[in-house]
Amino acid sequence: MTDNIKKDGERTEENVLIVKYGEIAIRKNNRKFFVEKLLRTIRRNLDGLGDFYVVKEQGRLIVEDRGGEIDFDQVIPKIICIMGIIGVSPGVRTKDQSLDNLKKVCAEHVAMIGAENYKTFKIETKRSNKNYPLVSREVSAAVGEHILEKFTNLTVDVHNPELTVYIELRNDAYIYSKQIKGFGGLPVGSSGKGIVMLSGGIDSPVSAFLMAKRGVEVEGVYFNSPPYTSERAKQKVVDLAEKLTEFTGGFRLYVAPFTDIQLYLLENVPHDKLTIFMKRAMTRIACILGERDGALAVITGDSVGQVASQTMQGLHAISSVATMPILRPLAGFDKQEIIDIAVKIGTFDISTRPYEDCCTIFVDKHPETKPKTTVIERIESHLDKLDELIEKAVNEAEIIEM
Ligand code: ATP
Ligand code: MG
Repeated sequence: MTDNIKKDGERTEENVLIVKYGEIAIRKNNRKFFVEKLLRTIRRNLDGLGDFYVVKEQGRLIVEDRGGEIDFDQVIPKIICIMGIIGVSPGVRTKDQSLDNLKKVCAEHVAMIGAENYKTFKIETKRSNKNYPLVSREVSAAVGEHILEKFTNLTVDVHNPELTVYIELRNDAYIYSKQIKGFGGLPVGSSGKGIVMLSGGIDSPVSAFLMAKRGVEVEGVYFNSPPYTSERAKQKVVDLAEKLTEFTGGFRLYVAPFTDIQLYLLENVPHDKLTIFMKRAMTRIACILGERDGALAVITGDSVGQVASQTMQGLHAISSVATMPILRPLAGFDKQEIIDIAVKIGTFDISTRPYEDCCTIFVDKHPETKPKTTVIERIESHLDKLDELIEKAVNEAEIIEM
């Protein structure tokens, strides 16, 4: 692409990635904070890939590679996944905003993307730099005319062009024609914090992703039952949490020891209701750990009717123990819809690694599908050691910061 070198050796134009974020979604007084956070997440996701320079530029973030030409194929996937980013555009930045230079750079851009691939085009100019001597329409007209002269196969169509070349006049000028869509959503942290119960299955990472998309800062807890669950099952959850950091910018994972609680429940509750009691104990622990960190909700991967414990009655019997709201973003999703998202966000391959939870000895062949909350609560009130075991699990939870 463009690689102009001035006499003093300073480049006047370079290839950059232009990052657009949802400005409207960001409340005015918090804007600085969230833009900083986006900036840090971009830097984090690009870490180790090269020597990048990420700067703010009037409602945009600009990524350039100080080491030389930016490799868009490598950089774009690392950025479009960040919550709050609407889209990214590979383009050219130029310091020289003179009309002659804009004509030249636009023509080079059109040549680079292949003018022969299009029949119709338009130029669309956005002028944030209000000192610029021409209004947007005049810039578009002048540059458009130049493109028409240079590329005789192209004609102007302002209503439905095959190619739109954008010129943005800011502190510097930016020229681009393509936008790759991001997930949108809200920047992580703009909606408070939640703690996701992360199991290593397909569903719970998707839940975490969906809440992060709505701006919720997510931390997680995994209930580990050695020797009934393997070290590799735990590693799977760690890898899922690591994957989620690409969207969230960071992740605190608690690994709570659950074996003692499971064995205690196995001894002391009706076997067909065991899962409900286990989920209630998990929920209590998640609430305590979350509350400690200022979380306002527990997030799970439950989907109504998917398994025995996820009936409406089951969810009621589990939820009654919670001391904060439980968000179940997948409640109304079919399995295939969940899988489609898991594939798209890259958690599916991790979740489906062959070493599943080997917790099967704990699962009843005919689990209760319509438990009565009052009955469950009555049985639980006789479980004298449960409070103590829960406190122990909370205190002994390992913390992994990512
Ligand atoms: P997933 O695909 O998330 O494992 P699932 O369909 O297997 O979900 P269940 O095993 O019934 O469903 O679990 C329901 C939810 O309870 C999970 O989505 C998760 O949020 C939570 N959960 C279950 N087991 C664990 C665990 N060992 N650690 C943390 N959370 C868990
Ligand atoms: Mg599971």
